Amino acid sequence: MPACQVNKKNRTQPDLLGIYQLLLGFYGHRNWWPGETQDEIAIGAILTQSVAWKNVETALARLRDQGILTLRDIAAAPAEHIAPLIRSTLYYNQKTQKLKAFARWFGTTYDFDWRRMFSTPVPELRHQLLSLKGLGPETADSILLYAGRLPVFVIDAYTRRLFKRLDLTPAKDSYPDWQQYFSARLPVDPGLYNDFHAQIVHHCKILCQPVPKCADCPLGHLCPGKT
Ligand code: SF4
Repeated sequence: MPACQVNKKNRTQPDLLGIYQLLLGFYGHRNWWPGETQDEIAIGAILTQSVAWKNVETALARLRDQGILTLRDIAAAPAEHIAPLIRSTLYYNQKTQKLKAFARWFGTTYDFDWRRMFSTPVPELRHQLLSLKGLGPETADSILLYAGRLPVFVIDAYTRRLFKRLDLTPAKDSYPDWQQYFSARLPVDPGLYNDFHAQIVHHCKILCQPVPKCADCPLGHLCPGKT
């Protein structure tokens, strides 16, 4: 793939793969997702909604201390027992209900067997996940990509912030449009999707913050939003 391509406005733009390579060269491989098992990845994906990852780590450690390590454990434990353990993740009563809804569904539908679940065709499985209480597209796609290693690009607020600043955006600011924008411009490669999303999150935490630190940015020479 060429390093650059010319868009319809006749402006030379970097391609997405080139941006990924610049981030990879600058930060190194991110080795995501921070979870040891598929159960832990899914639990973390639900708990991290609207909260920093360090708060999730606190909750995961407290769940572990209580012997709640798996989705089977989550399904069996009373909500009143789980909620205080995940208090650090905010909205903990709602998140308890989301965790239990996902765990019950996973047990009922797939007998807590990830291999069975991920043998379902991706569009059908994604539809099933999105029909569950409180599971939005970012969480569903994080489970598909990071627990299932399936080629589903995850879109989040960091992605939108960074690529709006780079002036690389879909015509409409909707989740499906953003996802299609990336899927159409990248090779179908779950390893690439995994690390690219991780690079975006890391870059937005380190440099491309709400008030960006542009001086050291590896994308500065490409970025119309550079300050
Ligand atoms: S140059 Fe600044 S605004 Fe642009 S990507 Fe880098 S940190 Fe973000």
